[in-house]
Amino acid sequence: MYDPLINSTIAYNENYPNSYWADISGQAPTDNGSINGDIDVDVAIIGAGYTGLSCALSLAKDYGIHAHVLEANKVAWGCSGRNAGFILKSSGRKSYATMVDHWGEEVMRGVYAEMEFGVNRVKSLVAQMSQFGVNCERQSAGFLKVAHKPSMMKTLVAQAKLQQKTLAGIATSEIDILTAQQVRQHYMDDKNAYGAIRYHDGFGLNPLKLAWGYQQLAQQAGAKIHTSSPVIRWQKENNRHVLQTPTGKVHAQKVVIATNGYTPKNFHSLINNRTLPVLSQIIVTETLTAEQIAACNFLTDNVVMDTRALKYYYRKLPDNRILFGGRGAITGKGAEDPYYADRLLAVLKTSFPVLASIHYQYAWAGWICMSLDDIPHIHHDENEDVFYAMGYCGSGVSFSAQAGKRLADKVAEQAIPNLPLYQKPLPKFPLAPLRRLGQWGYFHYGKIKDSYF
Ligand SMILES: Cc1cc2nc3c(=O)[nH]c(=O)nc-3n(C[C@H](O)[C@H](O)[C@H](O)COP(=O)(O)OP(=O)(O)OC[C@H]3O[C@@H](n4cnc5c(N)ncnc54)[C@H](O)[C@@H]3O)c2cc1C
Repeated sequence: MYDPLINSTIAYNENYPNSYWADISGQAPTDNGSINGDIDVDVAIIGAGYTGLSCALSLAKDYGIHAHVLEANKVAWGCSGRNAGFILKSSGRKSYATMVDHWGEEVMRGVYAEMEFGVNRVKSLVAQMSQFGVNCERQSAGFLKVAHKPSMMKTLVAQAKLQQKTLAGIATSEIDILTAQQVRQHYMDDKNAYGAIRYHDGFGLNPLKLAWGYQQLAQQAGAKIHTSSPVIRWQKENNRHVLQTPTGKVHAQKVVIATNGYTPKNFHSLINNRTLPVLSQIIVTETLTAEQIAACNFLTDNVVMDTRALKYYYRKLPDNRILFGGRGAITGKGAEDPYYADRLLAVLKTSFPVLASIHYQYAWAGWICMSLDDIPHIHHDENEDVFYAMGYCGSGVSFSAQAGKRLADKVAEQAIPNLPLYQKPLPKFPLAPLRRLGQWGYFHYGKIKDSYF
């Protein structure tokens, strides 16, 4: 598999991975094809995932700027077509409690508001895409954060209380505190659940259809989406950017980088050594029978995540399969080793031992994008006239909608909130060539922490 820390050119013209989403979602909408010859544009966007598409949509709709999006493969070939489809009011890995410690309550509330705008933007766009007959298969509202050991309940309750206190009056979300028995009786009989907090918002949907819906909205508004158009060289000529693709050049005044965890090695000096691509892995089981569903007491289709340092997450899909996810291999070379999918299945079976004989039917992985300070950064470099949004740390389905909109605001020179997400570039990783070693060390630390502490 393409490895962004090793390969300096993005994979090109590849099909979607063998994912459940690619299998069930039908035909991709028509796009504008690959770049044909040399063109001159105001704004070029590199990457047609949620970030690039949301930015293109907002530029066209809100500002009348018709950007050209350049995608190496197909629309949403990267994370946006491979994720678990959890829509959550968060992004990055910094908890709201840590934000309060680092930045104070007011800034934390500002960040929360942006995350909430992200979820609301997704909901509003999902409603608009029904005009094209796109049904994103939205599931019922609710997000269960499950304690994987009894001691974690204290942490979860403290989190819920802090959030209720600091967001009182502005947040719409209610949070329930559930005992192990309540979880098992009313949601699902997960043997690894020792209680949970349940946010009333958060929900699951079909992530690939979401991206295709964004694509159609963006095209309708006047954006052009060029697939099979990898940027393989980037130069500056007469103060304009020249983006070389295999089938033509794009000359642009402004460039938005929306390549996130799929950014090739040494792609641009503004972002080199500022992210860590990490593989996240998903399996989808065969369809559960009514008896198996009953034996697991699987009453909910809410989205579920646990409290481990190395998190697992799952949900029951509309056709009664279970989607189960967690960390994957460290390198692209190891990505397709069945060891990682088998490991997820083994953990799933510890949660639901009655499913001892179940198999998975789909397994795939994708590169999430970690930032050193655990938050996404949406940045404009004024000298270069280059913009980027990156570092969602595996939690970007909803926030990328807002990040794309904020990128568009920046391109259109509009003021945006003064928040750490928007005002600083991504910090550089110290000892960047050793990032993978650090990741390997963190995985080992996480394994020990999750097993013994
Ligand atoms: C297995 C998995 C599960 C996840 N689950 C969730 C979840 O449930 N909830 C959640 O919030 N987040 C989740 N995420 C993260 C979420 O999917 C991402 O944060 C989000 O999709 C990022 O969108 P993006 O548009 O920024 O990047 P991407 O969707 O990754 O798009 C980047 C695109 O850039 C293109 N590209 C790269 N280089 C070039 C180039 N040189 N020229 C042209 N094109 C280029 C790539 O081909 C790619 O299509 C998950 C991720 C994975 C991998």
